[in-house]
Amino acid sequence: LINRRVSGERSYDKLLGGLLADGFDERSCRSRYQSVMYRRRPSRRPAAYLVSKLRQQEALQRRCGPGTAAYGHALEQLRSGKSGGGGAAGAQQDCKYLVSISYRGLGNRILATASAFLYAVLTGRALLVDPSNEMGELFCEPFPGTTWLLPPAGFPLASYTNFSVATAESYGNMLRSKAIRTDAAAAAAGGDVPAFSYVHLDHDATDQDKLFFCDEDQRVLRNIPWLVMRTDNYIVPGLFLVAGFREELGRMFPEPDTAFHHAARYLFHPSNHVWGLVARYHDAYLAAAQRRVGIQVRVFGSQPDSPALLEQITRCTQKERLLPELLAAAEDADPAAQPGPSRKTKAVLVTSLKSWYYEKLKGMYWERAAAGGEAVSVQQPSHEEFQRFGARSHDAKAWAEMYLLSLTDALVTTAWSTFGYVAQGLAGVRPWVLYRPDNETHVPDPPCGRDVSMEPCFHAPPFYDCRLKRGADTGKIVPQVQHCIDMSWGLKIV
Ligand code: GDP
Repeated sequence: LINRRVSGERSYDKLLGGLLADGFDERSCRSRYQSVMYRRRPSRRPAAYLVSKLRQQEALQRRCGPGTAAYGHALEQLRSGKSGGGGAAGAQQDCKYLVSISYRGLGNRILATASAFLYAVLTGRALLVDPSNEMGELFCEPFPGTTWLLPPAGFPLASYTNFSVATAESYGNMLRSKAIRTDAAAAAAGGDVPAFSYVHLDHDATDQDKLFFCDEDQRVLRNIPWLVMRTDNYIVPGLFLVAGFREELGRMFPEPDTAFHHAARYLFHPSNHVWGLVARYHDAYLAAAQRRVGIQVRVFGSQPDSPALLEQITRCTQKERLLPELLAAAEDADPAAQPGPSRKTKAVLVTSLKSWYYEKLKGMYWERAAAGGEAVSVQQPSHEEFQRFGARSHDAKAWAEMYLLSLTDALVTTAWSTFGYVAQGLAGVRPWVLYRPDNETHVPDPPCGRDVSMEPCFHAPPFYDCRLKRGADTGKIVPQVQHCIDMSWGLKIV
């Protein structure tokens, strides 16, 4: 069987329906073709059109990537500050670039990178990822025969990682200072565009910055050879708001709720070190169980161990029949309740910075019998206590745990957490979301809800109707984009 790996009685489609390119060296990135053997749920099928776009993007990345003549030429252009005359034709000038800044937690970085990638594919740009924060160590290269990491040496925008809302070259600030104009007169004049612009789509982006999500602004941005983007968000719902992208997005994703799923399974392959963490843990603690439930308990800041949150987790998982109820002590003591060794096994994978929730859950299912006689094992790979930035083993564990969560059959996630979004998208499942309580002692009722799609939520979306040029509820403009259940003002693709 071509592209199929046979193991035991099952055969695996290791290229995920054509999503992945064949021909990579398997040893340098074992996860790329092995991960399919660890998933019980097949990935959603990519559209043939998406597959062809990915192959085109790979060719573009090879033609324009670091080390090519086109790349050298584009760097020259950037150094000179000139765009080359508003998009004049020329063999070397058709390489345009998008540099994605890598910062904040790993979940944020993954969402930002996936967003940048889809924007790059839509706009025919080569994607270059800022190598900060171990991006090269945590992930394999996604494009064959080239690198997606921006080589820092010789890159003219030396301080690009410090670009912020105040940077004069941000798209929003250039609009404000009229260094860029979007009106018809400017377009007719041939548009003298700068060599680069900084797209600031961080959580503190201004209304001007968010004009990025309007058609006429995209027409200007299209001609700028270099864009540097900072976002800690999943901005793809905003791209569906741009009329000029909608048809193409519709062809790439006839099932719009798979946009992140496909982007993530295409781009993010754990490096061999991280894959070792994933595979060993899976084989030791998850492989034998009949069912696997992932529970992601995101503890923000210095939030103390919370009995209310524990109760929220148990109420949610028992109400939704993800975990069995516990027998009352008297039934438990009845020898008839335990006829022999249990054949029904369930592995619960808890991920959290703290160990308290895991210890309590584990204690509950040890000290009391589960209704139905199920054997419930509760595990947690690590408890790092606090979120840390730039610590190597910390991020490797976080990545391994997101990936392990994505190998479970059912997933419970914490509202607002990008860590959970990555797991659900990779898994291809709609999670049960633990609603955010009003205060720390309150258990929300209901405790959780089934998400409307597996897509991540865009936390800082625009609230503007570009056509009507006024404020608007952007969750009501196109049917594919609605508000999120975990954050009422956020947007997600359904
Ligand atoms: P978010 O802040 O929940 O949106 O998720 P991020 O992944 O962006 O940032 C949180 C960071 O805290 C992670 O990247 C990890 O470094 C750390 N972290 C949070 N929860 C966990 C966890 O359950 N396990 C591990 N290993 N790290 C975690």
